Amino acid sequence: MMLILIWHCIPYYANFISFGMGSITHYIFWFNNYILYQQKNNFMKALVKQSPEVGIWMEDVPIPKCGTNDVMIKITHTAICGTDLHIYKWDDWAQRTLDLPLVTGHEFCGIIKEIGPGVTHYKPGDRVSGEGHITCGYCRNCRAGKRHICHKTIGVGIQRAGSFAEYLVIPESNVWSIHKDIPSEIAAFFDPFGNATHTALSYEMVGEDVLITGAGPIGIMAVAICKFVGARNVVITDVNEYRLDLARKLGATKAINISKEKIKDCYAELNMVNGFDVGLEVSGNPSAFKDMLAHMYHGGHVALLGLLPKSTQINWDEIIFKGIHVKGIYGREMYETWYKMTQMLRGGLDISGVLTHQFNVDDFQKAFEVMESGQCGKVVLNW
Ligand code: NAD
Ligand code: ZN
Repeated sequence: MMLILIWHCIPYYANFISFGMGSITHYIFWFNNYILYQQKNNFMKALVKQSPEVGIWMEDVPIPKCGTNDVMIKITHTAICGTDLHIYKWDDWAQRTLDLPLVTGHEFCGIIKEIGPGVTHYKPGDRVSGEGHITCGYCRNCRAGKRHICHKTIGVGIQRAGSFAEYLVIPESNVWSIHKDIPSEIAAFFDPFGNATHTALSYEMVGEDVLITGAGPIGIMAVAICKFVGARNVVITDVNEYRLDLARKLGATKAINISKEKIKDCYAELNMVNGFDVGLEVSGNPSAFKDMLAHMYHGGHVALLGLLPKSTQINWDEIIFKGIHVKGIYGREMYETWYKMTQMLRGGLDISGVLTHQFNVDDFQKAFEVMESGQCGKVVLNW
């Protein structure tokens, strides 16, 4: 932008030196500046995946247009998801999935700046987050109220411009109001909190012994939810001590470092005999899934959120002869999960301990490095 400004100023300076103010060049100069001013006003800063290599870049990009039924949100807080790290690293999945350039990010909180003429439920000034899965509204599942399994889902920050930007535009129907008692830095990660809620509330929890594999931010939040809704023992596994410690702080009955201990070793201490009633797989690691199946009690219920590789082997005997129920979990139920999240927080559920780092967005590089190290829970960027 600066270079353009200097370029446009050259005729003005030349003219100023030779003829003084008031000439035609003088007016051209101000006209040019007016155009530049307009252009600057139509641009915003955003974290863009610009080229097919490792990294993410802060760029000036056009502010998205607010359509008839859309809401434009001035972003105040965003959280970094594991998916954003995949995009940052430009791994196989990112290469297969994304069209570049792309404004990234899908975990956010902000204030409504503008609404389209068809918007009826929100107004400028409202503090909101929103569902990052944009569904078709017309397929069988959408019409049955099961929008989380719409087969035409489009992901914010994956297949369309995302929230790592000063402004985000999404359909009104995807917006979720944030209750005044919920801080924006927590609302910024309602998306993964919703993954944890959707997973944990999939099955009856009261009095149950629960095994969670993977103490990433989602597993850690799932611990707090399971305890909150009345599980008896909540055991979590990981290989990362920092994260296991966080899980303990959020209420895990037992946090097991699977590289040093066996799951079964905790049975006596926890007064368990036959294994777990509910299993939540949130690591995406095949050996964690294998461990889980081996430790499930007959008739147990397993929810799979972690993205397991296609090559994952399953000992089907563990599922068939034990009569295990298995459920795949995608995203959040729209909008029952959002309702439950809000009400659980208002009712005393405390997930604040999972938020370990906050950075100004200009320090995004540091934030991605912390994410990459794994020595973190949720990492939030302030815009
Ligand atoms: P994360 O990658 O931060 O956490 C995964 C954790 O699993 C890490 O702490 C890792 O150390 C741990 N782990 C690795 N090997 C393990 C093992 N053998 N046993 C136990 N733990 C092990 O991820 P997250 O953001 O918490 O998300 C959890 C999973 O859910 C990821 O696989 C993610 O891709 C997936 N996900 C799925 C959906 C969906 O809609 N289905 C949505 C969001 C995330
Ligand atoms: Zn649909």
